[in-house]
Amino acid sequence: MEFSKRVQEVQPSATLAITSKAKLMLNNGDDVVILAAGEPDFDTPEIVKAAAIKAINEGFTKYTPAGGTVSLKEAICRKLRNENNLEYNPENIVVSCGAKHSLYNIFQILCDPGDEVLIISPYWLSYPEMVRLAGGIPRFLITSRENGYKAGPEDIQEALTDRTKAVILNSPSNPAGVVYEKNELEAIAKVCVERGIKIISDEIYEKIIFDGKKHISIAIISDEVKKSTIVVNGVSKSFSMTGWRIGYTAGGKDIIKKIQTLQSHSTSNPCSISQKAAECALLTDMDAILEANRKEFEKRRDLLMKLLDGEAKIKPFKPEGAFYLFCDISATGMDSMTFSEKLLAERQVAVIPGGPFGEGNSVRISFATSEKVIEEGIKRIKDWVK
Ligand code: PMP
Ligand code: GLU
Repeated sequence: MEFSKRVQEVQPSATLAITSKAKLMLNNGDDVVILAAGEPDFDTPEIVKAAAIKAINEGFTKYTPAGGTVSLKEAICRKLRNENNLEYNPENIVVSCGAKHSLYNIFQILCDPGDEVLIISPYWLSYPEMVRLAGGIPRFLITSRENGYKAGPEDIQEALTDRTKAVILNSPSNPAGVVYEKNELEAIAKVCVERGIKIISDEIYEKIIFDGKKHISIAIISDEVKKSTIVVNGVSKSFSMTGWRIGYTAGGKDIIKKIQTLQSHSTSNPCSISQKAAECALLTDMDAILEANRKEFEKRRDLLMKLLDGEAKIKPFKPEGAFYLFCDISATGMDSMTFSEKLLAERQVAVIPGGPFGEGNSVRISFATSEKVIEEGIKRIKDWVK
């Protein structure tokens, strides 16, 4: 069977594949320690579940407008205004089936064949594949651990070409937990605005941020920057709602309209019931739950840093957000894929290889799991690499 050129080169998502394999082993009775999860281990808040059940009972089970209901868009505007200091109207918002879908749509409407999208490496592994699926070319800006895996304005300036359409900024980031400061965002925004480049700001991990830091959206820097920015966010990570599949995009009306048109011929609306649930999550005061979850993640991050302190072969990069620990494993002499496969086979510990994230010398350890699991996993890893 001759598949389309578009899909021939696309790799399956390694994060999803390894997590499913480990879960399967667990179901088969293997003593697996899963440090691979890309989703919070907390349950969706009860009030959100109740809103979904109410939606079902009230028959809110039909098509909605393709880009989401007006009431959910209004709730998103309210959130962006109150929490991010960003003023948008419902015409500036489109709701999609998870932030992954939001991003997929953005590349579809932005890229013509040969157009480039700048991706700061290490990166979330779906970015380049989504760009390729849109006919675009992912260009990688390699950062170093010594520079905190951050790209500076000069690096970006240098990496831009005549074909660069957009740059993706992900703060806090997956996989290294990098958080950009306001002055750094200002400097990056200046370059992008000067060069007429769109900034795609993936803010999905905004609530999971440590050391007293506050998330800042690059779009707040100025009206001009806001016009150049497409903000992506969702309820998956903040409200432990990964399975509900609600993400959203905020941006210029022209962009939003095009995404809605695209969506109207592909998925149509995101699940009506999930939209009601997301609306409830955004309109309810969840500060106490979110802060408790955030603190728990920070505690686990600190535990992991302590457990790996002084470990010669596994060198963690201290994350300032998200729930991953990106560890340099080059001293083991293995590449990330060999390390992950062997570790799973020989010690039944699942971690994600860094190769598909742009760094084959590292692996990603998720701390979206209990302290007990973390302790057991690290014990096995340390013993294995001895
Ligand atoms: N961006 C990043 C950086 C992610 O790690 C994820 C995780 N899947 C997403 C976007 C997509 O999130 P969602 O589950 O809402 O599609
Ligand atoms: N984003 C998460 C991760 O990086 C979830 C899995 C995925 O969608 O890739 O593990």
